[in-house]
Amino acid sequence: MSEPVVNTVNVVLLGPPGAGKSTIAEAIAEHYNLITISTGQRLRAEVEARSMVGRAVKDRLDRGELVPDSLMDRLLRSGFESFDPDRGFLLDGYPRTMRQAIGLFAMLADYGRHLDAVLALDVDDEEVVRRLSGRRICEGPLIDEPFPIHIDDLASMLRCRERGGRAVQREDDRADVVRQRLLVYHEQTQPLLAYYRAEALLVSVSALGRPAEVARRAENVLQTAIQARI
Ligand code: AMP
Repeated sequence: MSEPVVNTVNVVLLGPPGAGKSTIAEAIAEHYNLITISTGQRLRAEVEARSMVGRAVKDRLDRGELVPDSLMDRLLRSGFESFDPDRGFLLDGYPRTMRQAIGLFAMLADYGRHLDAVLALDVDDEEVVRRLSGRRICEGPLIDEPFPIHIDDLASMLRCRERGGRAVQREDDRADVVRQRLLVYHEQTQPLLAYYRAEALLVSVSALGRPAEVARRAENVLQTAIQARI
């Protein structure tokens, strides 16, 4: 991957479930040396740890419903508190409601930061259902970082088996829950696209194709958008 050209950018990543946000987030964060806050991952870690927060949110996650804004705001603030001020951030999975988006502007002002760009990943519902119904997480005692694989991608299934892992389906990747997550996305999160477009922050890319291709596309549009703002 090429050297970052612009440093310390603050980016929000938007897209429906199954758009590949976490995979693209990883590539972009590496490219710009950003700290990533993935709210979904954080919440799943809380559930795994059976913490108080985890116990409070588990049912909502399992049903594909959103966690209340007040709890999300606290989670995000605690992330910002521990930030290295010299590094930019990438938010993966936040904001997801209009209230969160408005709250984010206020929160960023409190920490002396601003958004440079909002990157939206485009993918239609049919492709989301295909991806998520076949998605599995490869995990096992020898695997430090569980990683996503797909039942149609034999190479990824083999990679998992070679590392002694097993393919586990996320509770919220079941077909009925995927439909619910899509509904929530269209009702609550999609309106943020128009909001950020009006703020002249939105850039979008197609999320179709191999993750490396999508990541390259995303880096290119981000670079152009960020340079236009300098
Ligand atoms: P994700 O891994 O981003 O698809 O998130 C998994 C689940 O975590 C979502 O279906 C929600 O239940 C919850 N979640 C993650 N981010 C948020 C957020 N910003 N607001 C409310 N709920 C969230």
